[in-house]
Amino acid sequence: MLNKIRAFIESRKNELRVLSDDIWNHPEIAYQEKYACARACRFLNEAGFQTTAPYCGVETAFRCEYGTKPGPVFAFASEYDALPEIGHGCGHNLICTAGIAGFLALAERIKEENLPGRAVLLGTPAEEGGGGKVRMVEAGCLKGIDAVVMTHPSAKNSPDPGSTANIGLEITFHGRSSHAALAEKAINALDAVQLLFTAVSYFRQQLPEHARIHGVILDGGVVPNVIPDMTRCRFYLRSGVESWISVLEKRFRDMVKGAELMTGCTAEVKPFRPMYRSRKINKVMNAEYVKCMEELGMVVTMPEHQGRGSSDFGNFSQLIPGVHPYFAVSNTSEPPGHSTEFCACAGQDAGFANAMSAAASLAFIGYRFLTDPEFRCAVRKDFDTSAS
Ligand SMILES: [Zn+2]
Ligand SMILES: [Zn+2]
Repeated sequence: MLNKIRAFIESRKNELRVLSDDIWNHPEIAYQEKYACARACRFLNEAGFQTTAPYCGVETAFRCEYGTKPGPVFAFASEYDALPEIGHGCGHNLICTAGIAGFLALAERIKEENLPGRAVLLGTPAEEGGGGKVRMVEAGCLKGIDAVVMTHPSAKNSPDPGSTANIGLEITFHGRSSHAALAEKAINALDAVQLLFTAVSYFRQQLPEHARIHGVILDGGVVPNVIPDMTRCRFYLRSGVESWISVLEKRFRDMVKGAELMTGCTAEVKPFRPMYRSRKINKVMNAEYVKCMEELGMVVTMPEHQGRGSSDFGNFSQLIPGVHPYFAVSNTSEPPGHSTEFCACAGQDAGFANAMSAAASLAFIGYRFLTDPEFRCAVRKDFDTSAS
């Protein structure tokens, strides 16, 4: 059956490739993915499916489903947002296309075999910094869905290694501007932001392996002869142990206070997007993914440690059984994520072909989920008995 599903996807590969390249050629950042959302919906409509867009109150989200008989409901997620300036440096054009390919393949099985249950495709925008899935979950997008899957490009084919919980904080320092050479009355907001980065750098040595902190300066002044009265930076605080996020946040806020005291500035700290939860890995679906990919001739590498990145798919996976494994974006290099090299690979043959094998593997997991009650129970049992 896996080979049959892979062959079905292969038979649609030309139009899927055009779709993937089209989204790749039109990169849009979080919540602005109007072209990609409309393009994905048009593709599904032309394939004979109805789509709902906007969905869950999110303008660039959509939903599509197939199946009429009551039964289990299995969902695929498709992301399609890009990074500012780098374009599809996270390869979400391939995620979108793989989600659609997986959905089409499972819908085909439901139709051909008159299966009970449904296949659902969720178009989930704004993973990069916007928390699209968090908003969709709050609006009830997972209601009635029994399991959800998504595949993401990476350096290697691998099962889901999990991910870190992540909060994003924006800090604005307010001071008093002055001529930089006559500065006795100045309160230097640039000093404050630099001291905060220094404090974070010193703190890093004491961080546990599962934690990461990193930031950028968004406003740091305009000309050298004016002391800035306002600076602004953003940080991500991540941990693979979700309860650790509050520990990190407290220490970080103390460092902001320290920068205020040392400079006389005042600071505002506010979250700039919802918290991404750590990913709860479904071990049953994860093992099935590895098996399928290997059967399709892919080399699968087992992760050496918990994943250090974060995704709003984590918020999905904490509510229903979910898995977020990876496929290689290239067969000849291992480009770093969020790089221009990664972006280039996301528009080339190998990345696309691997995405289609990953899609077939996810569709096969969906097929088993709909047709094999023992498998379905094992998936649910693993979810119920695993820690968050
Ligand atoms: Zn990314
Ligand atoms: Zn990504």
